[in-house]
Amino acid sequence: MSEIGIVGLGLIGGSLALDLKALGYHVTGVSRKPRTCEIALEKGMVDRSGVSLDLLSGAEIIFICTPMSLILPTIGDLIPHIEPGTIITDVGSVKGAIVSQATELWPHFVGGHPMAGTSEQGINAAQRDLFKNAPYVITPLPHTSMTGVEKLSKIVEQLGCRLYQCSPEAHDRAVALISHLPVVLGANLIDVCMAAQESELAQNLASSGFRDTSRVGGGNPELGTMMARYNRSALLQSLRDYQDNLTRLMGYIESENWEGLEAILQYTQKSRALFIKP
Ligand code: NAP
Repeated sequence: MSEIGIVGLGLIGGSLALDLKALGYHVTGVSRKPRTCEIALEKGMVDRSGVSLDLLSGAEIIFICTPMSLILPTIGDLIPHIEPGTIITDVGSVKGAIVSQATELWPHFVGGHPMAGTSEQGINAAQRDLFKNAPYVITPLPHTSMTGVEKLSKIVEQLGCRLYQCSPEAHDRAVALISHLPVVLGANLIDVCMAAQESELAQNLASSGFRDTSRVGGGNPELGTMMARYNRSALLQSLRDYQDNLTRLMGYIESENWEGLEAILQYTQKSRALFIKP
């Protein structure tokens, strides 16, 4: 079975390692901290592990699973160690900021994004089957290597993911809507509730509805800031659209247009199912 390399043995990299090893691939994991590499070996997540990128010289495909800000520098650091045909892919949550620059650095780069995660971080958060039934988006450019796209697609399918392909820009606009906008809205909801006169009573009365609507606003602040930073223009556009729509809904309420409001709520009740796959 072919050799797969993973750089960054955290939640995503560690979970990928576990599944790929279970599929029979020979997996080499490189991470920043020696202790993380030891844990990966102790837990049987990888076949080989260490802090040096030269361990990846024989890899056929390498998944970069570091924080977003380190993806491009890691590709630069990998180049002296790998064969000319090696495929490099990443798992970064935003694609426009990565894919064209990464492809300039390495012609066999294919951008990817597994749409799965938890609120935990680090190697101890890694788990088997994290990606099963989850969407996995591949974002090739018109000149991206077809061999790379085919090899990555095959692995993604073996992981049990739902494979999608689109441009990096379309990916970023879509994730702004369903992932990054909800983080800002959830955070804003909590912020407004904290500043309200009846905040303490509201805190005591909050139940399942508030738990559902606020969940992503209470997540990892670093990750939320990173998403806004790397996907700034798509996130701002989705916030503007949201603001316009909110103004329209406020108009219905101000003018006591209950029929108009109910028609919208009927439409959203039906439409929600399109976004929530079983
Ligand atoms: P994470 O749990 O913090 O894992 C990242 C790991 O990278 C760290 O555990 C760290 O391991 C390692 N690392 C840091 N600097 C490194 C370096 N210079 N060289 C090698 N390894 C280094 O974060 P994550 O949630 O897995 O996110 C990783 C990537 O996946 C990000 O690009 C993110 O955008 C993307 N992603 C995240 C999610 C999510 O929900 N979390 C979902 C999809 C995609 P040590 O310091 O312990 O060695």
